[in-house]
Amino acid sequence: MTRSCTKLILDTPVQDLKGIGPKKAQALKQAGFFSLLDLLRISPIRYQDRSQIVPLCRLLPDNTAQGLFKAKLKALKSFRIRRGLAIINATFYDSSTEVKARWFNKTYLTRQLKVENEYWLFGPAVEMKGQPVLSNPEIEPVKDEELQQQNLTPVYPSKSALSQAKISPLALRKLITRILAEIDWPGSFPVFSADSPFPAIANAFKNLHFPAEEKQAKKAEFTMAFFDQVLFQIGVLQRRKHLTGTLSLPDKNKTDKNNLDYELPFNLTNSQIKTINEILGDIESARHPMNRLLQGDVGCGKTLVAFITMLEHFKKHGHQTQIAFMAPTEVLARQQLATFKNFFTEFANKTAILTGSQKTAERNEINRQIKEGELNFIFGTHALFQDKVVFKNLSYCIVDEQQRFGVNHRRSFYRKGFNPHQLLLSATPIPRTLSLTIFGDMETSIIDELPPGRKPVETSIISDLAKTRNKIDQTLADHNKVYLVCPLIEFSEKFERTSVQEAFELISQMFPEANIKTLTGQQNWQEKELIMKTFKEGQIDILISTTVIEVGVDHPDATLMIIENAHGFGLSQLHQLRGRVGRSEKDSECILVSHMAESSNRLKILCQCHDGFELAMYDLKLRGPGDLVGTRQSGLSHPCFSHKITAGMIENARKRAFEILTIEKPSTRDWFKEKMIASFGDTYKTFMEGG
Ligand code: ADP
Ligand code: MG
Repeated sequence: MTRSCTKLILDTPVQDLKGIGPKKAQALKQAGFFSLLDLLRISPIRYQDRSQIVPLCRLLPDNTAQGLFKAKLKALKSFRIRRGLAIINATFYDSSTEVKARWFNKTYLTRQLKVENEYWLFGPAVEMKGQPVLSNPEIEPVKDEELQQQNLTPVYPSKSALSQAKISPLALRKLITRILAEIDWPGSFPVFSADSPFPAIANAFKNLHFPAEEKQAKKAEFTMAFFDQVLFQIGVLQRRKHLTGTLSLPDKNKTDKNNLDYELPFNLTNSQIKTINEILGDIESARHPMNRLLQGDVGCGKTLVAFITMLEHFKKHGHQTQIAFMAPTEVLARQQLATFKNFFTEFANKTAILTGSQKTAERNEINRQIKEGELNFIFGTHALFQDKVVFKNLSYCIVDEQQRFGVNHRRSFYRKGFNPHQLLLSATPIPRTLSLTIFGDMETSIIDELPPGRKPVETSIISDLAKTRNKIDQTLADHNKVYLVCPLIEFSEKFERTSVQEAFELISQMFPEANIKTLTGQQNWQEKELIMKTFKEGQIDILISTTVIEVGVDHPDATLMIIENAHGFGLSQLHQLRGRVGRSEKDSECILVSHMAESSNRLKILCQCHDGFELAMYDLKLRGPGDLVGTRQSGLSHPCFSHKITAGMIENARKRAFEILTIEKPSTRDWFKEKMIASFGDTYKTFMEGG
């Protein structure tokens, strides 16, 4: 937006600021700071209360920062100890006493600091020769003009991307002070009336940087977080509009009852019945296509829920309807198809599978049948996305293990039908704050119970793979099967192979009699298929693999899961892997192998906790959202994904975003949309467009 006023407004580009030359402007842009708004959104890390000055005589050498000192410089010297290490020693005094301070390597201080000038000092003190010495304190000259300033002075983070633009925390404070002094608030917004949201936003900016008291700063911080979240939710709702054709808030689930009369070897759990009804209620409401996430702990029976909704949908809509079920690996897709045919024999002749490995003639024939509408239930892998695959009437798509698919996959799948219903199955439970943000465009169904009779998988940590020998021995003696998983090592594919290979060599030496096979992503599909088939038939004793095994495969006799270098995985992923055993009445065990003592606190959680929802919360806190949402993760470092933000706040922001998109004045709506694109545009494009 260009405006003909010379005054500063929020949209003013950074290069128009006095003191920001072309080089700095370029560096700022590279770091993502384009306008004054971007600069004003940098939060101080804390505030200094300059009315509360501590006399130097109170300094204690206890390694903590104890307050703000105001002192004059008496003397300053720098010593080069050795190459790459210089120490700067200084002596400061105030009316109470004299104190020494030291810095490492900050030789520029010898040029900047002037004897007899007065400085603010803040930092921890250590003990040296019985005296407290300020160690690497923040230092800043006291200037007369600042004496009239507010009591709370903002301190900005020094590690921020701004250092690339050579803007120090101090320089940033000066910039922000100047911006706030000169900015034209009414000119920064489309309207500035009291009934618009804008005066509150302007106030939050002022109070974030120069609050009168801490309470005001906290409130401003909250407002800014809310502002971020509203922008994000505007994007989420637009994405939902792209996918469902209407601008609407995700609904509360309905609880219609369907008569689910299926002959199964077991009873559905209450949770399964509840979620089946939620899904069917949504599909049949016919207001807009379903856009739903089904989550639940590993082993809770998501597949069966999906299958029954497929059949119910088919029964209502008859022979013309086509339903696609997609899985991330061929092994899993074939397993799902086999389960479907096994449970629902009368529909077996209406099913097919499409995978990349099929021969052309076979694939052509299946494609023909799909196109002519001769098949109703189509299972498959990524092969389903190919242009050649043309559905006659695709009305319902299910994506298993959704975290393995990218947004583009989902989009191209979706375009193969005419507004098909979509159900995504999530491998791991997702904390509510995340399902409201990253999956905020979707309705959600949660299965919160496991089938009866499941025993928790006993979990332990050991330091060395060789120590699993006895457990393996025992398992094989009981005629059960063992999984051994080695981590994927991202930066070197060769290394990854060695890792499975090494384990293979070690274990083969230990158990020369056992039938041991390896399974990695590098093998071709025939090999993988064959191995999985023989494993399922019980002919393989120990299967050593990468995490390809993580997704969905089911074997009742597998009772021991060993995970090498367990510390490299997120808790949710470990829990997923652990879920590969304990799939029957038999006792089963999971052994985490880790040489890293420091990370074992995290791993210890896994030994005690068997609840996927709880583990997901830990992951979110300890590792951020990336682990939990898979390929949707671009840009997840944004503060609006912080685990500190509450679900309640996100829900309010979503309501507010909906209001902005529906009842606010068009000029206000446009301002927010514009800011949403500026904030999230590049990284979030595919996300927001409804991939
Ligand atoms: P996930 O939710 O992890 O995808 P699956 O759908 O693979 O779990 O189900 C795990 C196992 O539990 C399968 O062997 C499935 O047949 C079985 N199962 C599903 N529902 C029930 C139930 N209600 N009672 C007993 N076993 C069930
Ligand atoms: Mg599954």
